[in-house]
Amino acid sequence: MQGLMMDRPLLISSLLQHAEATHPNTEIVSRRCEGDIHRYTMKDAAKRARKVANLLSRLGINDGDRVATLAWNNYRHFELYYGISGYGAVLHTINPRLFAEQLVYIVNHAEDRFIFVDLTFVPLLEAILPHIGNVEGFIILADEDKMPETKLPNVHCYETLLAAESDEFEWPEFDERKGASMCYTSGTTGNPKGVLYSHRSTCLHAQGSVGAEVMGLSSSSCFLPVVPMFHVNAWGTPYSACITGAKQVFPGPGMDGASLWELIEAEQPDLLLGVPTVWLMLLNHMDSIGKKLESVTNVIVGGAAAPLQMIKDFDQKHDAFLIHAWGMTETSPIGTINAFNGIMAALPKEERYLLQQKQGRPVSGVEIKIIDDAGTELPRDGKTFGRLMIRGPWVVSGYYNNDDVSSFENGWFDTGDVATIDENSYMNIVDRSKDVIKSGGEWISSIDLENTAVGHPGLAECCVIGARHPKWDERPILLVIKNEGADVDEKSVLDYLEGKIVKWWTPDAVIFVDSLPHTATGKLLKINLRKEYENYLIDNA
Ligand code: AMP
Repeated sequence: MQGLMMDRPLLISSLLQHAEATHPNTEIVSRRCEGDIHRYTMKDAAKRARKVANLLSRLGINDGDRVATLAWNNYRHFELYYGISGYGAVLHTINPRLFAEQLVYIVNHAEDRFIFVDLTFVPLLEAILPHIGNVEGFIILADEDKMPETKLPNVHCYETLLAAESDEFEWPEFDERKGASMCYTSGTTGNPKGVLYSHRSTCLHAQGSVGAEVMGLSSSSCFLPVVPMFHVNAWGTPYSACITGAKQVFPGPGMDGASLWELIEAEQPDLLLGVPTVWLMLLNHMDSIGKKLESVTNVIVGGAAAPLQMIKDFDQKHDAFLIHAWGMTETSPIGTINAFNGIMAALPKEERYLLQQKQGRPVSGVEIKIIDDAGTELPRDGKTFGRLMIRGPWVVSGYYNNDDVSSFENGWFDTGDVATIDENSYMNIVDRSKDVIKSGGEWISSIDLENTAVGHPGLAECCVIGARHPKWDERPILLVIKNEGADVDEKSVLDYLEGKIVKWWTPDAVIFVDSLPHTATGKLLKINLRKEYENYLIDNA
């Protein structure tokens, strides 16, 4: 028997309509590329999103066409999120940190018709212009008097175009499964892959992510998303903001500690969201000026593992709780989150910090499990490592125009991460499956080793890879960059590790290097290192 409830579609435009009707005066504050601070309200944003929709119609954009943005976190980007998806086109948020050839690839692969671009990124487009000839025009997100000299063809000023449009627009209704936005992965091998979010997946993700033990957002929240709108929709926060009426403070291009503090001091957000590198800069800045983040109660950290010291620093110096979260471009991104709860409240602080280091529990709506190489599900004992699989209504089911199905298995998505899951479903990322070291049939986490080794006061960065070994198959070797002027040798590194890791994890070699390669988004790029050092232990036996 079918239920008898209305089958209203879950559409992104309905989130904005809700916000305009319910929270019209909620503020949205942005640091603009031009340097000044801009303020307006949800009501203003909704009006301008309708102008964007009228503009798309004037530009001849059809249903499902891809319209790209290359922009920081700011109010114009927010309007485009709603204007483009609400209109029925697909918002393609381009990640400016990709390498030039990857940018060319994704613009062409997505077949972007127009690109809305912040002033900062105009030179980036000029540099790849000869290779993106199919783009019909460029709209610069600036006031008329700030328009730059540019060789981009068919270029327009966003504010001038919007000024000419009406703010009346009837948002169309369509199938909620229709594509709404897309984001390309920033993988370490091969071309980036397109993830195409639907209206339905975006709305469900937004609803799933606002709850008290997830992001904990409400109309009295004020949050600062440093996580970029060009990378997995700033973790879905532009949508969560409309559901809850929370105030947004957009940092624009100012992601350094001093700029962030200036905004925090002025706007008093209670929630910050971003990757660990950003918080390291902020924490260092706060140390240097000797001030406390008074307004901040929670800091959501994801994208990479949050170091233990960061969890402690936020707690002990700033009275702020670090909420560790895990997700991927392919998972919209929230998969698991580690918010404060009764289990934590009952723990002594030092034990609570250790629990906070885990990436948390699945958000209601997604399921996770770990499996071995034969596909058998592994125990949830908090110890056994396995390939982390996920499924749910906001998890990718296939890549855009790409027949690579290697990550999809029986209705589950293989995250490429290796993890443990405990009896309460706390998940802990142990490694990437390509990076885990298989020594005598047992697995060693390169990430755990790196995180431990980097605690050595003389070391700036560490990278652990597996090298071939005649007896154990693979053994870990540790590549390190010394802090300038530090007096460190192999023995002092190994002495430092002793007692902090199980003995058989001890690296077989410590190699001092001047630099380590990174992906476009700042993650260690181990693929070439693995090739370079493959035979290191055999050659140096
Ligand atoms: P991306 O799709 O670029 O956002 O990257 C997703 C990958 O980042 C995941 O598969 C993980 O390997 C890594 N990642 C994301 N969040 C965390 C976290 N909290 N701890 C450790 N790794 C993470």
